[in-house]
Amino acid sequence: MEPLITANYHTHSKYCRHASGEPEDYAKDALTAGMKVLGFSDHTPYPFPDGYYSGFRMFPGDKKDYIADVLRCREAFADKLEIHLGYEVEYYPRHFDALIKGLTATECDYLILGQHFTNNEYDGEYSGEETDDVGKLITYVDQVSEALETGLFSCLCHPELIHFSGPDEIYEEHMTRLVKTAIGTNTPLEINLRGIRFGAQYPDERFFDIAAPLGAEFIIGVDAHDPDDLFPAPEYEKALEYVKKHNLRLLDRLELKKPAV
Ligand SMILES: [Zn+2]
Ligand SMILES: [Zn+2]
Repeated sequence: MEPLITANYHTHSKYCRHASGEPEDYAKDALTAGMKVLGFSDHTPYPFPDGYYSGFRMFPGDKKDYIADVLRCREAFADKLEIHLGYEVEYYPRHFDALIKGLTATECDYLILGQHFTNNEYDGEYSGEETDDVGKLITYVDQVSEALETGLFSCLCHPELIHFSGPDEIYEEHMTRLVKTAIGTNTPLEINLRGIRFGAQYPDERFFDIAAPLGAEFIIGVDAHDPDDLFPAPEYEKALEYVKKHNLRLLDRLELKKPAV
């Protein structure tokens, strides 16, 4: 049987505390699923100010175990599976520089952007709440664009996390800016299989209609939160339907931008 997806760069693990499974379980299943490349991108620990606790990401104190586990998998699966160590990161202007400065080349191969909150998380809003507030759409697009301009992200996850239910022309105006910035910074856009599985607001066909004529590049991301997610047959079929219907430029590998040397 032909493997479904040969490379997936969007993988979580027990370390973010809302996904399950050891990194090794994911590596085993990726191999069984026929993958050649597996990127771990668990929700990054963030150097937040004292007293703020983020409920959906790795604790700073767990980072060294996450790194050790992924590097151990890389050794154990060498020659069978190309394993990369990464993080899914929000761009929080007040703390992003400190986050990047805290990374070293051995502990990070790549970053993917998933802008779950605006501002700095503790003083912003969840991006995925349905809204017709144009200001919220603008804030999201501005912040994602600023993030992409850093040139540090290898992919933009679920770009349509912003759940804008206002007029299509306004959505188009601002998401066009986002897509143009992604193209200008060589950042592929993700078709997120987890969103398909759960019937989330993303993927959004309005977005494909905007991005395709501009020539944006897309990559399929599993967004695995359980090792079993690495066998996403029906969601993958649906993603390929979108690719065909909207004539999307689909990549099968990401060019990883190393944020630290
Ligand atoms: Zn998650
Ligand atoms: Zn994710």
